[in-house]
Amino acid sequence: MTLPPTIALDGPAGSGKTTVAHAIATQLGYLLVDTGAFYRAVTLAALRAGVPISDSETLIALAEQLQLETLWADGTDGNFYRLLLNGEDVSEAIRSAAVEDAVSQVAAVRGVRDVLNAGFRRLAETQPFVIMVGRDIGTVVLPEADLKIYLDAAPEVRAARRGQQIGVADQRDVQRALSQRDQRDSQRAVAPLRAAPDAHYIDTNRLDAQAVIAHVQGLITAWQVRHGSAT
Ligand code: C5P
Repeated sequence: MTLPPTIALDGPAGSGKTTVAHAIATQLGYLLVDTGAFYRAVTLAALRAGVPISDSETLIALAEQLQLETLWADGTDGNFYRLLLNGEDVSEAIRSAAVEDAVSQVAAVRGVRDVLNAGFRRLAETQPFVIMVGRDIGTVVLPEADLKIYLDAAPEVRAARRGQQIGVADQRDVQRALSQRDQRDSQRAVAPLRAAPDAHYIDTNRLDAQAVIAHVQGLITAWQVRHGSAT
């Protein structure tokens, strides 16, 4: 039974992309590549090295030198994968408030995106089955992806999910940080957050994770039927 070799899963922060991608990756044997984690790792490395976020040239040179690797994790400690930066496990460090604050500015640097995109495309070419999560996978990174999905939800729904995930009771700060990132990610000149015209759009406002996973499984089955390989 053939699966779609590449799945592009895009959407704003807190839309449930990683939860859904992890379930699909685990059930069907896909490599999960959460591209946001890579942008976070470049940001972490820049903060540690004291590189100002406004210094694009140094940021690009730094991104070129980094060895980034992603490994599957079972999700029990809240991590759906581990991210290694030059061999160091930075899965927790990339979630810090300082990284969260700066990441969308680092991600707006075209040269940083070019460096990371080359690595993402290499992974998609060399791994048999990849589910890639991000903001511009269906539009820029893998425009030829076999299946494209865009998850969306209202800002307050996404903030509530994110708050629950990180254990914050008062969601106002979470919502403020999230809407700042939404704005930066969707209004930047390079590869803004956008659904590809051929993406399957899923409004997750009234769906829990299981329902969204079931919906995505249905899209995969429909792809298999179209390609004559459903069992
Ligand atoms: O997905 P996550 O929230 O971890 O992404 C962190 C940031 O990385 C996003 O807010 C966005 O600025 C950037 N990003 C991006 N393009 C992607 C994935 C993430 O610009 N494909």
